[in-house]
Amino acid sequence: MDGCEFSLFDLLEKCALKVREAVIPLLGETLASKPVGRGAGGDLTKIIDLKAEQAIMNELKEAGISCTIISEEAGIVRIGASPDRFYVVTDPLDGTTNATHGIPFAATSIAVATKPFFSHLTAAVVLDLVHNVLYRAERGKGAYRNDERIRSSQNDDIVNSVLGVDVNIYKALDGKLREKLGRILSITKHPRYFGANALELCFVAAGVSDGFVDLRRKLRALDIAGGYLIAKEAGAIITTPDGKEIEAEITPQTRIALVAAGNKRLHKKILEILNREK
Ligand SMILES: [Mg+2]
Repeated sequence: MDGCEFSLFDLLEKCALKVREAVIPLLGETLASKPVGRGAGGDLTKIIDLKAEQAIMNELKEAGISCTIISEEAGIVRIGASPDRFYVVTDPLDGTTNATHGIPFAATSIAVATKPFFSHLTAAVVLDLVHNVLYRAERGKGAYRNDERIRSSQNDDIVNSVLGVDVNIYKALDGKLREKLGRILSITKHPRYFGANALELCFVAAGVSDGFVDLRRKLRALDIAGGYLIAKEAGAIITTPDGKEIEAEITPQTRIALVAAGNKRLHKKILEILNREK
């Protein structure tokens, strides 16, 4: 928090709480899932997504700051006189299907970067909207859940680990992908998939889960930018499934795959299982 210009975290937290105000009354409401168009990222936009995005946009505009907003529905929006000064990267509502069905697992993710790349992320907040729990991190200064410092898990027992695995392979024709997913699902006793990837990464950050695997290359950069910084600052190891550093330009269209683990040993074991010949 300290040293941040114009109380950046205060502003990000304010934005996140405004999203919460907008989204909570719509939880479980069928009307909220009515599609109202297609977002810049290519997915259908629902009323609840729009309301969440408007809450952030309004708050940023009212704060009188200048920045470039990269968001799931509106795409790239430049506000103020010097919009290249910094970038606000957001998935206003992560877990839309959960939210509209009343499943209590949805978040808003808002990250700040000096340039629109993973390597330039400097600060992030992810708010668990249902439970009102705020995760945040600033590059080089650790990660927090509310006011408590969090650290990722040291468990490297893959069989007994709680491993988030994105199992949504709808329309995925890649047999190799299915085979690799099968290997991961069959080696751990406790696979989990909750349906909001920003929050899944915060679970890795806080040691609630031991890791999170998404092999599909369907994860939007916008969804996970915030959770990525928070998990890294908590000590988690996050790479692509073949072990490369995650680096990409963050646009509404950027999609990636990742392997996150609470510690190096577990991360290595997961990669070995994924990348062995058979
Ligand atoms: Mg979303």
